[in-house]
Amino acid sequence: MPELRYEPVTKTWVIIATERAKRPSNFAPPRLPRKEGQECPFCPGNEKATPPEVMAYRPKDTVPDSPGWQVRVVPNKFPALNPEAAAGATIRRDFFHAVEGAGAHEVIIETPDHERSFATQEADEILLALRSWQDRYIGLGENRNLAYTQIFKNHGAVAGASLEHPHSQLIATPLVPVTLAAELANTGDYYAEHGRCFFCDALEKEEREGSRLAWRDENVVAFCPFASRFPLEVWFLPRRHQESFAVATKAQLFSLAGALQAITRRLFTEMHDPPFNLLLHSAPYRGGDYHASYHWHLELLPRVTIIAGFELGTGMYINPTPPEMAGEFYRAE
Ligand SMILES: [Zn+2]
Ligand SMILES: [Zn+2]
Ligand SMILES: [Zn+2]
Repeated sequence: MPELRYEPVTKTWVIIATERAKRPSNFAPPRLPRKEGQECPFCPGNEKATPPEVMAYRPKDTVPDSPGWQVRVVPNKFPALNPEAAAGATIRRDFFHAVEGAGAHEVIIETPDHERSFATQEADEILLALRSWQDRYIGLGENRNLAYTQIFKNHGAVAGASLEHPHSQLIATPLVPVTLAAELANTGDYYAEHGRCFFCDALEKEEREGSRLAWRDENVVAFCPFASRFPLEVWFLPRRHQESFAVATKAQLFSLAGALQAITRRLFTEMHDPPFNLLLHSAPYRGGDYHASYHWHLELLPRVTIIAGFELGTGMYINPTPPEMAGEFYRAE
């Protein structure tokens, strides 16, 4: 019997379509032929093909925008938002409301190695990428005009990646985006009702239940949420209650790197490396007290189903893979 499941963080419903249940192996997309011989702007030696670096992890005896780096952060060549614009500056405020597009749009080149990805990297290499996320997250938060930084990774062309070279992106916005605002409001409601953090409760219940667990160690728990919107969706939560990614410790980030490695490796080896989006959600920089009610996390959303008219019309997702099946898939190693 199909089931409608409620997702309290987004206050949305998901249809778990058990009637047409799909085992993870049913999704395996064909491997794409590799593109050879193209000049990759993210490969070492091609540093001049990107705007000048904002930050890099590189030996002291190397100069900016030259090879030798381990991680390199550069502004997006075609930024969605502009650091030069005046944050909050009103352009129009009548029926048509607009403000200047202030913000930042940066690309995090996670490794000099074009051929690698989280699935084939070592945990300490993934840790460097996560540390660079945190450095930029904190750095941009010092700008009083910015409210939030969305860090995300588009893996594979279907998920929105235009270059193969392993990279993630960030877009800092002068206002709190609506998806995060909804999570903050909804978990605030949960806190008002239960006196507890929704994510701490979810983590505890998922560990006890066990069927949707995907990975865990002493710092991080990964599970397939009860009302997963996407087949094989995974949430990664720190065990420690923290509202902001900015305060995550090196040990926590190392555990998170291990979790990302294990989960993406499973997708890589068993499902031919499907496209996915990876999102970081963390409390906004300022305005509002989310200390007790919000809990930072990562969401990994494999893109093996198509978002189409029904999803756009209703905000309701149809997921043909029950998260219990997904949990079993990730645990079976
Ligand atoms: Zn490359
Ligand atoms: Zn919590
Ligand atoms: Zn979230």
